Amino acid sequence: MKTLLTGSEGLVGSTIEADVRVGGRTPPFPGYKEHKKRWLDLRNTREVNNLFTETKPTHVIHTAARVGGLGANMNYMGEFFYDNMMINLNVLEAARRVGVEKVVSFLSTCIYPADIEYPLEEHKVHDGEPHSSNFGYSYAKRMLEVQGRAYEEQYGMKHSCVIPTNIYGPNDNFELENSHVLPALIHKCYLAKKNKTDLVVWGSGKPLREFIYSEDVGELTQMILEREEGADMFILSSGEEISIKGLVELVAKVMKFKGDIVFDDSKPDGQHRKPTSGVLVRNAFPSYKFTPLKKGIKKTVEWFLENYESCRK
Ligand code: GDP
Repeated sequence: MKTLLTGSEGLVGSTIEADVRVGGRTPPFPGYKEHKKRWLDLRNTREVNNLFTETKPTHVIHTAARVGGLGANMNYMGEFFYDNMMINLNVLEAARRVGVEKVVSFLSTCIYPADIEYPLEEHKVHDGEPHSSNFGYSYAKRMLEVQGRAYEEQYGMKHSCVIPTNIYGPNDNFELENSHVLPALIHKCYLAKKNKTDLVVWGSGKPLREFIYSEDVGELTQMILEREEGADMFILSSGEEISIKGLVELVAKVMKFKGDIVFDDSKPDGQHRKPTSGVLVRNAFPSYKFTPLKKGIKKTVEWFLENYESCRK
């Protein structure tokens, strides 16, 4: 088995062992010294074909994508569509040309239909229009599932999709305004402790979310890659929801923050909850132990403190 990994410096990619590691971000970024790997533009068909012909992988984990928050998705709708379509078309086509046995590709829960009936289940992904704020990204990602399925049918190259819930861990983006809730709270808590101010949390604290530690996503992905089966999709979820209030209390505890936690109701709550089913992955790997949230937060905070100068923030 010779595995090629795309997106090797990302939140998930950085947790996965692979024989060929392909990154897109320009160095230096935290941890880049450990990456004995190549940087190339996955939108460029010739570069991708050359890479696969040269390295001849038998297995591929495809995490690379052009990603961004709400603002970036709305401002660069066309680029998000084009970049992701090209990256995915190139990677799967190059893989099947060199006879790769199996590919595991990453999708995202945000590509599901806007008016979905919860809980999210794997098979509902094509059941309606994605949200208008990110349809460029969403349709490109949905086509990745279609391409993988079509290639498995015609060429027998096995293809599985994974759909993680909110991933957190080392190498995340810890920006204060533009990141997801957990890295934002860790950074805000750090500043509140340092400056002896309140820890200000957006919204009411009532919304519920599911979180998964990046190393769990990496391990489950490798376990899925090693399975005989293909033509399947797995939402990666431990099945546990936590309120934002519960989450911030955990962060404060781990970071030994003793000040006041204030909920800023003028900021939006977003959706109340977005539960997923996650039954398929838990049935496929019944003995798998998900990292408890507190332990994952602890490891993430340790990494953040050690890499404060160089991390994305
Ligand atoms: P969402 O799942 O798409 O809503 O993504 P987010 O991770 O951005 O937000 C999840 C929840 O955390 C929302 O209810 C936010 O209001 C809440 N939240 C509380 N504090 C923060 C913060 O500092 N940053 C972010 N991004 N969300 C926060």
